[in-house]
Amino acid sequence: MNAPDRRITALPPPRHFIANRFVDAHDGATLAMIDPSDGAPFAAIARGNAADIDDAVRAATRARQGVWGRLAPAARGRCLAAISRAILDHADELALLEARDCGKPLAQARADVAACARYFEFYAGAPDKLHGETLPYAEGYAVLTWREPHGVTGHVIPWNYPLQIFGRSVGAALAAGNACVVKPAEDACLSLLRLAELAAESGLPEGALNLVTGLGGEAGAALVAHPGIAHVSFTGSPDTGAQVGAAAAARHCPVTLELGGKSPQIVFADADVDSALPAIVNAIVQNAGQTCSAGSRLLVERAIHDDVLARLGERFAKLVTAPAFADRDCGPLIRASQRDRVQRFLDDAARDGIGVVARGRIADDAPANGFYVAPTLLRDVPPRSPLACDEVFGPVLAAMPFDDEAHAIALANGTGYGLVAGVWTRDGARQLRMARAIESGQVFVNNYGAGGGVELPFGGVKHSGHGREKGFEALYGFTTLKTVVLRHG
Ligand code: NAD
Repeated sequence: MNAPDRRITALPPPRHFIANRFVDAHDGATLAMIDPSDGAPFAAIARGNAADIDDAVRAATRARQGVWGRLAPAARGRCLAAISRAILDHADELALLEARDCGKPLAQARADVAACARYFEFYAGAPDKLHGETLPYAEGYAVLTWREPHGVTGHVIPWNYPLQIFGRSVGAALAAGNACVVKPAEDACLSLLRLAELAAESGLPEGALNLVTGLGGEAGAALVAHPGIAHVSFTGSPDTGAQVGAAAAARHCPVTLELGGKSPQIVFADADVDSALPAIVNAIVQNAGQTCSAGSRLLVERAIHDDVLARLGERFAKLVTAPAFADRDCGPLIRASQRDRVQRFLDDAARDGIGVVARGRIADDAPANGFYVAPTLLRDVPPRSPLACDEVFGPVLAAMPFDDEAHAIALANGTGYGLVAGVWTRDGARQLRMARAIESGQVFVNNYGAGGGVELPFGGVKHSGHGREKGFEALYGFTTLKTVVLRHG
């Protein structure tokens, strides 16, 4: 195994984190972690199984029945505030782990650390404001509702944004009073092991947060099927999401599914193109396109289509893909199979005669065994082609022209997904018509992504999933509503 990069002082041990301490996997099995920047193993994690998950669920159940479950809401909030501060105090260390593990440029990893801290800060203020209602009912009755935690919640986290997705999911679940069992992705989870340790050091009571690392089909499947898990939050692919949803449904367990997208950026001829262009590039280049809300389809009104593509092409041609610590526009993709999958989309596009407007370049000194794909802008992509309809999860932008508003709406809604959309136009009435007509969980007008938007409810329709995370709305998903009816005569 290679020596750790000198900028990472310590790597978490290949152990789970259960009840505030690192513990070995029951069978002692481990998995190698591969550095996407050079394709070499650099660390190991525990390979969890059903017995490890069972230990974690037991620890979380004890926490719910013990100190954590009995904490006053304001005290729960103070625990989350302390975690937020600890994240910021260890920002460099967490960013280095995240950058190396995911292969993302250091500046992007730093932004993810800040967003993770912000989730805990936001949810720290929530526990003592999450209340039920009194309801008007018949004469002689008093009716009230209580928002209660589910109990022990399960969280399956993907590899593209470990810190951010952990923050939005676990932060909200803890704020609502649940105890959590987390199964991070086998491809990238080192930052989360360190974060769990920091949470314990910040005073989070034992068992409130537990992490079991390992493979999806082993530890992940065991978590979702465990009878002690009362709610599942899953972020990942639609196929795995369907399996998770079916496993949860088999025991009537509620699930939140966030399954990615094929989000359109729609540029009308009256748009402020100067401000649209950098946002369009960033929305597909960020994290090398491995973002559920990536703006991976570009729909441009025909009158300005060629001009917009020419100007975007100039920007794409300047993009550089390089190792994470080189901190350029793009890093490598997460693993060899993901790189090969993206490359297949590009090879098929070339075979089908789809035109390349521009391509960025891979840095000359990027290690040959890293998982690199140059950012690519393609034009006149047929609306029903895989490139236009499937989630590529790479730095590939598929552009196509449209003729009028109705055509733009038909194209925007023409995939199985519905997560996010961007609309660029100065026409106020059209902004609202488009926002209403587009089938997606979020619509951004004259901006895209709003810098992450911790406060903004997020989630999909259609194959992008169901349920909402982020914002106050997430707290409702992590609670169950009890109605109490008192007859007082
Ligand atoms: P995946 O859905 O297989 O994995 C996501 C998480 O689910 C990981 O933690 C994994 O261990 C776990 N998992 C896998 N099988 C499981 C099971 N049977 N039960 C419980 N948990 C299980 O995603 P992937 O294979 O790593 O990536 C493939 C594609 O998924 C990507 O190309 C992309 O399109 C999509 N994806 C989307 C997002 C997103 O943010 N929406 C994130 C990652 C991947």
